[in-house]
Amino acid sequence: MSEKKRLNKNSSKAKIGEAKDALHRFLCTHMRHGYAYYRMIADEENQVDFVYEDVNESYEKLTGLNNVIGKRITETRPGLAKSTPIIFEKYARVAKTGIPDAFEIFIKNENHWYDVSLYSPKKGYVLSMLDDITERKLAENKLQKLSVAVEQSPAIVVITDTQGNIEYINPTFTKVTGYSAEEARGQNLRILKSGQMPQSVYEELWKKILSGDIWNGELHNKKKNGELYWEQGEISAIRNKENVITNFLGVKVDITEQKRTLQELIDAKQKALERDLIKAAHLASITHELRTPMTGILGFSELLNDPDVSQEESAEYIDIIHQNSLRLLTLINELIDIACIEAGDSKVELVDTCVNKLLQDIAAFFKLAINKKGLSLTCTQGLQDSESIINTDRAKLTQIFTNLISNALKFTLTGGIEIGYTRVNDMLEFYVKDSGIGIQHAMHEKIFDRFVQVNNPLTREIEGAGLGLSISKAYVAMLGGTIMVDSVEGKGSSFFFTIPNNHSLCRKRMGSR
Ligand code: ADP
Repeated sequence: MSEKKRLNKNSSKAKIGEAKDALHRFLCTHMRHGYAYYRMIADEENQVDFVYEDVNESYEKLTGLNNVIGKRITETRPGLAKSTPIIFEKYARVAKTGIPDAFEIFIKNENHWYDVSLYSPKKGYVLSMLDDITERKLAENKLQKLSVAVEQSPAIVVITDTQGNIEYINPTFTKVTGYSAEEARGQNLRILKSGQMPQSVYEELWKKILSGDIWNGELHNKKKNGELYWEQGEISAIRNKENVITNFLGVKVDITEQKRTLQELIDAKQKALERDLIKAAHLASITHELRTPMTGILGFSELLNDPDVSQEESAEYIDIIHQNSLRLLTLINELIDIACIEAGDSKVELVDTCVNKLLQDIAAFFKLAINKKGLSLTCTQGLQDSESIINTDRAKLTQIFTNLISNALKFTLTGGIEIGYTRVNDMLEFYVKDSGIGIQHAMHEKIFDRFVQVNNPLTREIEGAGLGLSISKAYVAMLGGTIMVDSVEGKGSSFFFTIPNNHSLCRKRMGSR
């Protein structure tokens, strides 16, 4: 190569070098990152420090330091070594090894976050590029806290796109609905529709949120397993910087339990109200039932005092007074029975009872009244006399029969009454059948409640307080049986009740005597 060519080549190399240097200097001066170049020094105790060789404007802006060239870090940034000693270690390691490093670091005493990159162009020197990332870090921190809050929130949180397709759900959503995040993501919120809400609710909801308003209300939704639940909360729009709605955010709580408790309270209140009404009605019934015969007794007793009353009339009045006294006595007895049952004072007194004899006595007692009304009475004994002895409460059994036959007599105008019993397995099934007015099906269970009377023009004229059947039901239960009615309106009624046939016990006892 000629001397001229060599000189030319060298001078163009030098030009390229100069251009590069200028470019680097330009970059260092103008770049957004802070740039600082240090020389590492160490004191007698081997404590390292760094002397500024060069910094750019951005560095000065970022750190707020000026005229640092030739000064040490510990001098310009006092407190740094104590608050963040690791930074000195990192700088020293790079200056010594030449291996670059990069990290984010929080400088406690300056309360700032920095993103730092370290390089070492020659041994004992270190070049740092730094960026203040405090704002980003604070935002990240805030986001992190928010994300934890949402993830751990006891509320259901769901984010959808503008079509209602799920993009995010929190764990509470999964806990309540049973859909995992993987199952829910991409699905439309429609999967929760139970079909229990009117369509208008959804229409209103969409209208509101699409217009940017917040919807709040309750929804009856369906879980993955088909179970229904109630949720209450808000759905609102999420907008981007251009103010365009990009997503919807739903924050709701499961209120199924509260709803149930509320309903129970409403029901309880309603029941208490009904009980109060029933009590008031009962009191009215009792008052009426007491007053009616008393008025009769007082009225006709006074008439008897009239000297002009004939003998026939006075006999009639005495009969009326007698009937009314009986009615009063029946009611008083019934009220005492009810009070005893209620207080648990009604005791069962078991005695060996010949059922056939008991039936004969009852039939004999009612025969006159039944015949007087032009009705027939048949009495069927299901067992031989010797077989018909059972250990039971004779008085209560008699009372049950008396109540049922009295009713049959009251509510039968033509035909007749049958009483009797049959053995059914280890029970005796007693019956009282009549060809009377019958009872509508809907009342078959209710008539065994206290003070219940079938609303019927005929029964209204017939005396009674609606207590007989409830007393009978309680007594049958005390004797170990059940009572029921079979009846067709207009065709008659059959009352059946069972009590245990414990004849074998009686026989053994009688045998051992
Ligand atoms: P009451 O003293 O009013 O007869 P009960 O408790 O004995 O009270 O009966 C309740 C109601 O059941 C009666 O008022 C009547 O409406 C109806 N009832 C009871 N037995 C008969 C029957 N054999 N035939 C028709 N209705 C009956």
